[in-house]
Amino acid sequence: MSVRKLRCFECGHGYGYVGDDSHPARCPACHSSLVPPSGSLAVFDRSSWESANGLAKLRISAVDELGRLFEFGVAARGETGKLVELRIDDAPVDPRVIRTVVRIPPTVEAELAEAGLTVEPTSSGHPRRPSTSD
Ligand SMILES: [Zn+2]
Repeated sequence: MSVRKLRCFECGHGYGYVGDDSHPARCPACHSSLVPPSGSLAVFDRSSWESANGLAKLRISAVDELGRLFEFGVAARGETGKLVELRIDDAPVDPRVIRTVVRIPPTVEAELAEAGLTVEPTSSGHPRRPSTSD
């Protein structure tokens, strides 16, 4: 049994989910479905393109266990990738929230690594914490 800490991308409400199953993808405070992926995230598409100024962009599309569509927009400069856009079921997540709250899931990070990119660490303190039960 594990407790997961989730944070709503819409209203910022933090809440915990107890259990190992996929969590209901809905914020208990504002009922938004702009919440982190439920269960494992399966990547099914990756596209990239490069603009004239040398700034490459990648779009990684994935679905979670509830069938919600996650589209991660990553800007790459050199070998560093930075998450700049996130759409969940076609609803855009606020860029400020993307900068401070959203963490790139391991499956997406693996896709970026395959494309030769490392993820830029976030500046402010949101350390990646292993989920532990106590
Ligand atoms: Zn909320």
